[in-house]
Amino acid sequence: MAKKGTSAQLWNRSIVVMILIIAVGFGVVAARLLYLQTFMAEELQKRAVEQQLVNTELTAKRGSIYDCNGNVLAQSVTVWDIVMEPANIKDEYGMIVAEGLHEILGTDVQKVYEQTKENHYYAVVKRKVDTDVKDKVMNFNSFLRKEYNIANALKAVENYRRFYTHDNFLADVLGFVGADSQGLAGLEYQYDDYLIGKKGRLMVATNAAGGQMPYEYEQKIDAIDGYNLTLSVDEYIQSVMEKYVRETIAEFRVANRGCAIMMNVKTGAILGFACEGSFNPNDPFEIADEKVAKEIAKLPKDKQDEAEAKARNAQWRNKGVSDTYIPGSVFKMCTASAVLSEGLIKKDTRFECSGSYVPFEGSRAISCWSSAGHGEQTLEKALCNSCNPAFMQMGNMLGRQKFYEYYVAFGFSEPTGIDLPGESDDYFFHNDGICGMDLSDLAVASFGQNFKITPIQMLSACAAIANGGKLMTPYVVQSISDANGNVVRTTEPKERHQAISKDVAAQVCKMLENNVLSGGGTNGYIPGYRIAAKTGTSQKKVDDEGNLTDDYIGSFCGFAPADDPEIALICYFDTPDPDINYYGSAVAGPCFRSIMSEVLPYLGVEKVYSKAELGNLDTTTGAYVGATVEDARSLITGNKLKCVVMGKGKTVLAQNPDAYTTIPQDGTVVLYTEETTNIRKVVVPDFSNLSLTEVNQLAAEHLLNISIKGSLSSEGRSYAKLQDIAPLTEVDPYSVITVTFNQDNNIM
Ligand SMILES: [Zn+2]
Repeated sequence: MAKKGTSAQLWNRSIVVMILIIAVGFGVVAARLLYLQTFMAEELQKRAVEQQLVNTELTAKRGSIYDCNGNVLAQSVTVWDIVMEPANIKDEYGMIVAEGLHEILGTDVQKVYEQTKENHYYAVVKRKVDTDVKDKVMNFNSFLRKEYNIANALKAVENYRRFYTHDNFLADVLGFVGADSQGLAGLEYQYDDYLIGKKGRLMVATNAAGGQMPYEYEQKIDAIDGYNLTLSVDEYIQSVMEKYVRETIAEFRVANRGCAIMMNVKTGAILGFACEGSFNPNDPFEIADEKVAKEIAKLPKDKQDEAEAKARNAQWRNKGVSDTYIPGSVFKMCTASAVLSEGLIKKDTRFECSGSYVPFEGSRAISCWSSAGHGEQTLEKALCNSCNPAFMQMGNMLGRQKFYEYYVAFGFSEPTGIDLPGESDDYFFHNDGICGMDLSDLAVASFGQNFKITPIQMLSACAAIANGGKLMTPYVVQSISDANGNVVRTTEPKERHQAISKDVAAQVCKMLENNVLSGGGTNGYIPGYRIAAKTGTSQKKVDDEGNLTDDYIGSFCGFAPADDPEIALICYFDTPDPDINYYGSAVAGPCFRSIMSEVLPYLGVEKVYSKAELGNLDTTTGAYVGATVEDARSLITGNKLKCVVMGKGKTVLAQNPDAYTTIPQDGTVVLYTEETTNIRKVVVPDFSNLSLTEVNQLAAEHLLNISIKGSLSSEGRSYAKLQDIAPLTEVDPYSVITVTFNQDNNIM
C-alpha cells in the first residue's frame, strides 16, 4: 500500500516537473518571439528578403503529335531561358554585363543594369532563345570570367518552344499553345493533361550575407516529359484535302471559309479534317487573312484591339465542329431513310412535283428549285432530282413525331462526342422534341432547310447510312503513348446506336450511287469507282445580325466504294460568290471528286470498270519508230487507234504521241517517214465551255488528240473547264491535250 503510495507521489511529481519544463520552454519561446517581433522586426524582414529562396518551375517537354504513320505534326524543340546571377556581379561590372547582353539579345540596357544590382541568383533576362543565341551568351559568360574574373554571371536553363512542322497544316484540329506551353485550342487544349507532362522545380538559395553562398547550392527536381498523341489523320490525305478546299475557295471566291472532313465509316476515325482560312499555330495571334489584317490596320487605334480579338476568334473556330449550318438537300438522305424505315414506300408510291407544293391546308405554296417541276417520281428519282415537293410529301407521310425520332436517331439532337473542343450544341430541334416544330417547320425540314447542324454531325449520319446503319462516334486521336513509346491508351471504335436498319441503309446507298451515276451528283463521278453522294445547296436565311441574306452554302456529302463503303467525305463551302456559282453540285462536287480520285487509289481501293466505262477507257500508244509503216499501221489500228502517215518513206522515223502515252480510244497516232526539217506545228485552240462533241470536233480540225478528265454523263450538260496546254500554244500535230470537264447541272 505504502509502496503504491510512493510511486503515485513520484508520478505526480514527474508530471508537475514536466509541466513546468514545458511551460518555461514555451515561455522562453514566447518571450523570444515577443522580443523578435517587437525589437527585431525590421532587421528580420531585411534578412528574409536577402535570404530569398528562388523557386522556379521547370517546364516539362510537351508530348509530340504524330499522324497515323508517325509523321511529326507538332513537337517541342529545345530553347533556352537566359538567367543572370546578379549576386555574382559586382556593381562596377553591371554596365558591362548589361551592354554585352544588349548586343546579343537586344535587351534593354538600363533594365538589365538595374537587375545586376539585385542580390540573388536568379533573374530571367530573356526567355526562349534559340541554341545559337544561347551559345553566344555562354561565350560572353566565359569572356566575363576571363577578363573580369566574374564567376557564373549568366546561365542558360532549358525550356521548350512548340513547333508545328507544316505551319497552317491541320491547324483547326491541332490548335496551339500559350506562352507557358499550356494548350489553348484544338487537340492541344483537349489533351492538355496528357501532353503537358509534369513540371519540375529548381530552388536556388542565398544566405543572409548575400553572395557568399556558391551557386552549386541549388536543388533540382527534373520535369517529366508529356505523352505523345498519334492521330487517325493521315498526312497525305490531309494535304490532298487542304489543296482542293483551297483551290475551290479561290475559284468560287468563297467568302466565309470552307472545309472538308473524311471519316472511316466503319470506325469513326477521322482521316482528314481540312478547314481552310484558318491560322498558323506557330504564330496563332497573327491575323492570318491579309485582307482582314489590312482592314483592321485602317481602323482608328481605339477600335483595333476589339477588331483583332474578333478576327482571332473567327480564325480559331473549327468550322467543322463549332459552326452550325443549314444542311440543305444533303439531309434528304435522312428523310429518305426515315420513310423507308417506316414502311411508307410501296412499289407503286409516286411523288408529284408541279414546281411547287402546298404542304398543309392554309399554307403558302413552297417552290421546288426547278420551277418547271419534276412530274411524277419514285423515291429514288426524287432523291436524284433533289425535288423539294416530293420531300415535303414524305414529311407529311412521317408526321412531326416520327420525323423528330429519325432526326434524333441520326444524331442531330446532340453533339457527336468527337474528341475536339468547342463542339456546338446549338441545334434547332434541341431536345425539345416536336414542341419546337410546327407543320411549316416539318415541311421545310424534310428537305433540309430551316434547321442547323454541324458538318461533323452530317458526316456521321452519312457514315451511318454507308456502314449499315450504325451511328459511330468520330475521333481524331488513335492512341496515346509515353516518352518511351509505350502505348498508354488506344481509342476503340464506339457505336452510339443503330440509327436505321441494315436493309434500309443498303437501299439508300444504292439510290445515292445512282444519284452520282445519273442524278444530281454526277460531279462526284469517277470512272472505275463506285461513289454514292448527295448534293446540298442551302440558303443562309439570316446573317450574324439577324438580317435576311442571299448567301448560300454549297455542299457535297457521300462515300465510297458504294458496294463496300470505306470512307465518307463532306465538302462544304460557306458563301461562294453567286456571280460564279453557288450550287453544291457545281461548287463542292468537283472538290469531292478530286479528293476521292486521289485518296481512293492511295487507300488501295482498286478501280473496277463497268462495261460502259470500259468502252470509254484510254489506251496506250506503242513504240513504232524503226518499224515498217505497214507493221506500225496494223499495230495502231489493232489498238483501236487511228493512224496518219506523213511522208512517203517505208520506215517510221518518228511518231506523235510518243510511245507509251495514254490517249483515248479512237485517238490518232501520226507516223513520220522522212526527215523533215520543217514539221508544221499546230495551234492549240481554246476549248473552254465547249461540250464534249464540240471539243472533239475542234480537236480533229486542229489535228490534236484529246484526253478527257472529270465528269461526263449521259444526263445534264458537261462543259470543258480546264485544258493542260494553253490556247495559242504551238505543238506537234496529234499532241495530247488533257481537257477537264464539269457537269453543268446546278442541282440543289
Ligand atoms: Zn421538284
